[in-house]
Amino acid sequence: MVLDTPGVPVLRAAELPVPSASEAELLIRVHACGVCRTDLHVVDGEVPAGRLPLVPGHQIVGTVEGTGERVGVPWLGWTCGECRFCRSGRENLCDHARFTGADRDGGFAEYVVADARFCFPIPAGYPDLQAAPLLCAGLIGHRALRMAGDAQRLGLYGFGAAAHIVCQVARHEGRQVFAFTSAGDADAQRFALELGAAWAGGSGETPPEPLDAALIFAPVGALVPAALRTIVKGGTVVCAGIHMSDIPSFPYADLWGERVVRSVANLTRRDARDFLALAPEVPVRTAVIPYALEDVNAALEDLRAGRLRGAAVVQVRA
Ligand SMILES: [Zn+2]
Ligand SMILES: [Zn+2]
Repeated sequence: MVLDTPGVPVLRAAELPVPSASEAELLIRVHACGVCRTDLHVVDGEVPAGRLPLVPGHQIVGTVEGTGERVGVPWLGWTCGECRFCRSGRENLCDHARFTGADRDGGFAEYVVADARFCFPIPAGYPDLQAAPLLCAGLIGHRALRMAGDAQRLGLYGFGAAAHIVCQVARHEGRQVFAFTSAGDADAQRFALELGAAWAGGSGETPPEPLDAALIFAPVGALVPAALRTIVKGGTVVCAGIHMSDIPSFPYADLWGERVVRSVANLTRRDARDFLALAPEVPVRTAVIPYALEDVNAALEDLRAGRLRGAAVVQVRA
């Protein structure tokens, strides 16, 4: 399923040759590929595609042709290993990074080629569909959670694929979760409570107690000052998405008291190894809405409209 023109949010079914892998790469038969909000940003042109036409999709589960090993391919597809960021353990910030489903063809296809150093074994207990959302919603959600430090009372803004995983990990770590959804989204609030949130309400509501940190997964800049007003002195607001609408101005008093606003960008290979080891221990159970490969446009529109309770996943091969 191919993106021809960013801003025209429809992928086209195309017959492409099976890609060929270099010695450093793996040819992977795709079984499932999760649908992420970043895919929407790429399709909409808010995150630049490094090549066109492009096969999007960066939460890939498949088997390596030849060996049959089941692997996952995440968003981080290649790093230079030489820039100041790579050399200081921050390859997520690599100046020359290439991203799966943006700079390299991704997983909304029957085959994908990936750099072997950026592929990871999938934990055995996870079927393909349930494993796919671990690879971005899980990995980057978990990186965002770590940026919240040891916050005991944790706010989650936007209760989609990432938050529904982070909520389970946070509960496993003994934290309290407060879930913020669009005003009046009773389904999403019920979903959050079912997953162990202590409270769920609209993003404009005041939680029953002040929070120690908040993670923002919704692409809405106005949530930044809203979240700042819910956290205690010294607390952190983490923006976990790759794209957000502009942040409205707010009084300095809302930031005062050593409150912190920061973003989380991409992932490192260490994040991937750490989270894929942690997920079965929790255990994280992903709620998945399956789509056929040729229905990926419907998945993207359902995600855009906020109709999903969990993670959309394209099933390529049963
Ligand atoms: Zn680099
Ligand atoms: Zn993603």
